[in-house]
Amino acid sequence: MKYPKLRELAEAIKAVIKGPYTSSFPAEPHEAHPNFRGQPEFDQKKCLGCLACEEECPSTAITHQDILEGEGAPKRIMIHHTDDCIFCGVCQDACMRETGDEAIRQTQKWELSYFDRSEAYETIEKELQLCEMCGDVIATKDHLVYLAEKLGELSFSSPTLYLARLRKLGLADDNIEAVMKDEGRSDRVKILCAKCRRATATYEDE
Ligand code: SF4
Ligand code: SF4
Repeated sequence: MKYPKLRELAEAIKAVIKGPYTSSFPAEPHEAHPNFRGQPEFDQKKCLGCLACEEECPSTAITHQDILEGEGAPKRIMIHHTDDCIFCGVCQDACMRETGDEAIRQTQKWELSYFDRSEAYETIEKELQLCEMCGDVIATKDHLVYLAEKLGELSFSSPTLYLARLRKLGLADDNIEAVMKDEGRSDRVKILCAKCRRATATYEDE
């Protein structure tokens, strides 16, 4: 007869006292280990809609849609397709926000069963800033303000950035454009895309 080794005996006694290592899922909900890195989730408030996470996601589980027409202001919808996600955490690493303050973070969620796969997604919405001359998408409003705050006084070299911030703070003078128009330079107080900014800052030879 073989006797159990001491280590195995200790494990068996521990299991009798503490209970089994396995859970009774699906009869009972399973609680993940505290260090488990599961499904990531967007933070609506912190997210800038900058698309860095979408660009880096290896399984194209993050996509976006820019809605320019219809009711309300133009918006960007960030979509996380949970059925394509492999929980790799690359999106969290790639996030524009500082480490520890990421706008997409892995949670402990792991149970992702759906009856209908087309329901396996989560979304957040961010308001878009369009070029005030050509109407092209520049970025989300939050992204422009974030960049202006990051750059500090350097942002004053970009009218688009400092205007975005002043408007967010409610400090932009609505009458300034009319005043500037008289001087022929109202384009200096508009939020413009790079192409239109260049066009307003350069002069063609006649
Ligand atoms: S965890 Fe990985 S697969 Fe899932 S959304 Fe983030 S980058 Fe994409
Ligand atoms: S990288 Fe971060 S801030 Fe940018 S869209 Fe993704 S979650 Fe939002």
